[in-house]
Amino acid sequence: MQKQYDYIIQGAGASGLWLAYWMQELGLLKSHHLLVIEGIETKGNDRTWCFWTPENVKEFPFVNRHWSSLMIRGNAQRIDPFQYCHARSESFYGWVKAKLAGNAHVHWSSEWVRAATQEGSQVSVVTDACRYQSQYFFRSGQMDEGQENTTIALWQSFVGWRIKFRQGGWDDGAATLMDFSIPQAGTTRFLYVLPISETEGLVEVTQFHSEKLARSEGEAILEHVCAERNWNYDIEEVECDAIPMSSFFNQKQSHNTSGNRIISIGVYAGALKPTTGYGFLAMREHGRSLALALQQKQLLPKIFRKARFRFYDALLLQMLTHTPYRGKAIFERLFSKQPAHRVLKFLDEKTSIWEEIRIFSRLQVSWFLKALVTHVRS
Ligand SMILES: Cc1cc2nc3c(=O)[nH]c(=O)nc-3n(C[C@H](O)[C@H](O)[C@H](O)COP(=O)(O)OP(=O)(O)OC[C@H]3O[C@@H](n4cnc5c(N)ncnc54)[C@H](O)[C@@H]3O)c2cc1C
Repeated sequence: MQKQYDYIIQGAGASGLWLAYWMQELGLLKSHHLLVIEGIETKGNDRTWCFWTPENVKEFPFVNRHWSSLMIRGNAQRIDPFQYCHARSESFYGWVKAKLAGNAHVHWSSEWVRAATQEGSQVSVVTDACRYQSQYFFRSGQMDEGQENTTIALWQSFVGWRIKFRQGGWDDGAATLMDFSIPQAGTTRFLYVLPISETEGLVEVTQFHSEKLARSEGEAILEHVCAERNWNYDIEEVECDAIPMSSFFNQKQSHNTSGNRIISIGVYAGALKPTTGYGFLAMREHGRSLALALQQKQLLPKIFRKARFRFYDALLLQMLTHTPYRGKAIFERLFSKQPAHRVLKFLDEKTSIWEEIRIFSRLQVSWFLKALVTHVRS
């Protein structure tokens, strides 16, 4: 069986759904047909997304909690103009699907893509049951040919619990970001505590290391943290996964070549900032710019990051790879010497070069110089 579409998106995850959302918003799906192919039949709440934004939170109706200040090293700091937002993935999936519902030009299929090949200006997409043709194929959740898994030196692992208190609740509703007070065990490890309601919230340990954090080890840390705080709770959900921390996925060009009809999106298109793992809003931006370029028949953009930010990330990755235990000291210094809103702006890659000089001059300069030497030699 062969079917023809204008666009096919592989993956109904963050990047695939953001792209479908913008195609609809920009009116592309009034006249063009889109097929979304997702291998997992029911995704459910497979992760939570946090991000910060200067936009009105109403732009993100799937967000279930947001904060205008954060607890950093035990002190509450306002983060204007940003809001720190928390969303459950199933709310995001549901929100986009509701936006697309009723559009007869949007089609869904639950199956795995086995191969995609470009033939002239058409892409042939093969699943176990079908062969589809489309003008463009947007691929998420999969590395491009030639992208080697073995090049990933560091992993960002998450083990998180959504807990509900049997008795009592949070002392206050403040969100704690990057709390390094947990034992580091030769790695860089920190804790997030995000109260979502009076009696519910997310407690999550994050680790940067060459080895992934085992679920059992992560849960032992969480158990210890909860016991120390005398929390009486039930675990409602567990989140356990890892993402690559690698500049390998950085794009060196700003646009795809003109004839290219197989377009990467999401993690393997370089959406995640290698040193933080944040990328949800970068996927939103990429989805919007792709849809706009399709509408205006322009070259399709890649997720391009300025060279100097790629360079800063490369130095920090170098350091975290060779001296993983230094992450705690670096991030604690970063947050103690700068207001939180400036750190968030820096992590967003929106700071000026002068702001960056101010930031770096307060960090462990000799460590960065050493990393620079190793970086130049490698
Ligand atoms: C546990 C966890 C927590 C995270 N938290 C944050 C956060 O707080 N903030 C943030 O900014 N980022 C976060 N990230 C990073 C990033 O935002 C997510 O990984 C995000 O989901 C990546 O989007 P994606 O579209 O690239 O991949 P995914 O969301 O994983 O979507 C890819 C989809 O493609 C499907 N697929 C893959 N191959 C095929 C195939 N051959 N055929 C059909 N379907 C296929 C998959 O089943 C999947 O549904 C987190 C990541 C994880 C793992």
